[in-house]
Amino acid sequence: MEHEFSALFKKNKIWAKRMVEQDPDFFNRLKHQQKPQFLWIGCSDSRVPSDQITGTDPGEMFVHRNIANMVHHSDINILSVLQYSIEVLKVRHIIVCGHYSCGGVKASLEVIDHGLIDNWIRPIKQIYEDHADDFEGLSEAETVDKLCEWNVREQVVNIGRSTSVQKAWREGQQLAVHGVIYSIGDGKLIDLECSISDPGQISDIYRIR
Ligand SMILES: [Zn+2]
Repeated sequence: MEHEFSALFKKNKIWAKRMVEQDPDFFNRLKHQQKPQFLWIGCSDSRVPSDQITGTDPGEMFVHRNIANMVHHSDINILSVLQYSIEVLKVRHIIVCGHYSCGGVKASLEVIDHGLIDNWIRPIKQIYEDHADDFEGLSEAETVDKLCEWNVREQVVNIGRSTSVQKAWREGQQLAVHGVIYSIGDGKLIDLECSISDPGQISDIYRIR
């Protein structure tokens, strides 16, 4: 067990050395500031590392991950991430990234007791109900994957409804929210083409004037 943990430090040394070899000023530059253009909201799943699958370096992406890439309006964690990244870092793109075969989405379709996490993923059941027609005739695996896509679209809208995004748009800040999905089976990132960048794309009731 100790070996598994200590191996991380060995790998870290090799990585840090390689980065300096490629770019001697790399860490020095990062030490003084971060200016990421992107906020990434993804699933905690270990197979979906935001930087590796997008080829981005440290400093390029502000990251928040939770089970099933959910956006709850009472989650102080994601609300703080949204406020800081929008108001201070002034990110220009917020990316919600789901992935096929998501365990959290799969669990939301089951009628068994998973414990506390059932509360976290509960809104996905509502998304399933809202789009029931879309799942007709699909196999179990296809249903999970289709629901993974709908969950991303729904969380994109949730971000658009958030007070931080509404305020940014009110102030004329350039900010787009995108929905993408990652395929663990072949490493491909797919644009779900549900981007929003204008308050007019969100129901009037959520506007902050
Ligand atoms: Zn997942």
